Amino acid sequence: MRKFWLTTLLSMLCASSAQADSLLLQNANVVDPKFKTIQKRDILILDGRITAQKTNVEKKYRTIDLAGKYIIPGLIDLHVHCGGNPFPDGTYEDLGPEPTAKAMLYSGVVAYLDLFYGDFAQIFRARNLQQTEPSKHRDEADIYCAGTGWGNWNLTKDPQAAVESYIDRWKPDVIKLIYGRDSLDKVNLAKAIKGATKKGVKTVVHIGSWEHGQDAIESGATAVTHFFDDEVIPNEVLKVWAKSKAVSIPTLAAQCDLANLTSKPLLLKSKILDGLEPASRLATYLHKDKFTKKTLSVLKWQKEDTQNDMKSLKKLADAHVQILAGSDTGNPGTIQGFSLHREIKLMQDAGYSTWDALASATTKAAAFLGRPSGIKDGDFAELVVLDANPIQDIANTQRIHNVIHHGNIIDRSALVAPK
Ligand SMILES: [Zn+2]
Repeated sequence: MRKFWLTTLLSMLCASSAQADSLLLQNANVVDPKFKTIQKRDILILDGRITAQKTNVEKKYRTIDLAGKYIIPGLIDLHVHCGGNPFPDGTYEDLGPEPTAKAMLYSGVVAYLDLFYGDFAQIFRARNLQQTEPSKHRDEADIYCAGTGWGNWNLTKDPQAAVESYIDRWKPDVIKLIYGRDSLDKVNLAKAIKGATKKGVKTVVHIGSWEHGQDAIESGATAVTHFFDDEVIPNEVLKVWAKSKAVSIPTLAAQCDLANLTSKPLLLKSKILDGLEPASRLATYLHKDKFTKKTLSVLKWQKEDTQNDMKSLKKLADAHVQILAGSDTGNPGTIQGFSLHREIKLMQDAGYSTWDALASATTKAAAFLGRPSGIKDGDFAELVVLDANPIQDIANTQRIHNVIHHGNIIDRSALVAPK
C-alpha cells in the first residue's frame, strides 16, 4: 500500500513539472530517416514528447516559425570515451561524463553510449543522477554506459558469473568486451556473452582482426565495434556476418580522421568546432612540427589503412549488415560531439547512402538503445533544427540552428565555456 502512494505521488510530481513545456514548430521540412521522407509539416511538443497534431492549436502553445529549416531526430553517438579530447601536440582537454554530455548536446547529440570509462563508479553516478533528478540535467545529453570494459584484467575463472553479478550490481546499459591477442580468448568471450545475454543486456565486442569479428558474431555478440584496418573484410567473414543479426559500429572517425583533419584544413572550419574549441587548439591539427611521436605513428597507420576501412564499410553496407554510428571519441583525431558528424560524413564518403548514414546516427542508434526517438507521435521530443538539407549533403548536420532536448529549446551558448 505504501508503495502505491509513493508511485502516485511521484507521477503527480512528474506530471506537474513537465506540463509547463509546450512548443509548436511550424513550417519546417521534417526529415524522417526511418521512412526516408522529407515533409513540410508542423510538430507539436507536449510534456517532452512529440504529439499528434491537433487543429487550431496555434493560440494555445508557444509557436516558432521554422520555414526554410530542416528538422532531424536528435543524434546519438554509440561509441564514446568521455574522458576528454586529445590533441596532436599532446595537449589533453579533460572532460568526464557531464562536460562531455554538454559538448554533445551543443553538437546536436542528445544521447551517448560510453564504452569504457576508467572511473566507472563515476559514470554510473552521472547516468543515475540524470534519471533521478532529470530537471537538473536538462542541458546534458543523456548518458548510457558500459562502465568498465571486460578483458583478462578483470575476468575471474567464471566469466559468466562475473558478468552476471556486475550487471546485478551496476545495471550497465551494455557489456563491453575487449577481444584480442592480449585480452579475452574465444572461450571466455563466449562465456561472458552468455552471462550478458542471460540477463538481457546487449554486448559490444571490440575486435582486433576480422577473424575476431567472426568469433564474436558466432558467440552471439549484439554488436561488433571497430574495423580491422590491415585488410578489407574477407568475403568469408562477410558471409557469416550477413546471416547474423549482429550490428557493426565501425568507428571510422577514430580510425581515419587524424589523417583527414591534419591534411584538410577546411574540415576544421565547422560551425560546431567554432563553439566547442578555441582556434588555438584547433590549430594544433595543422602545426606538424609540434606533433608528438604517438600522433605521428597513428598518422602513419591511418594514411596507409583508411582506404581499407572505406572499402570494408561499403562491403558491409552492400551485404545489408546493419551499421550504427559511433565515433570512438577520446582517441586521437576525435573531438567529443563534432566527431559523430564526421562519422556519418565518412560513411557517406565510403558510399553508404546519405539516408542510411543519417539513420545510423538517429533512429537506428535510438532503437539499439531502446529509446523512442524519431519524428512520430509519442517519440521523445529530441530534435535538431538545421539551416540546410542534410540529404543533399550530410555535412549539413553541422549547420545547427537549434537543438531541442526533453521538449525544450536548448540555450547552446550556455553549454560551452567562453573562449
Ligand atoms: Zn573505443
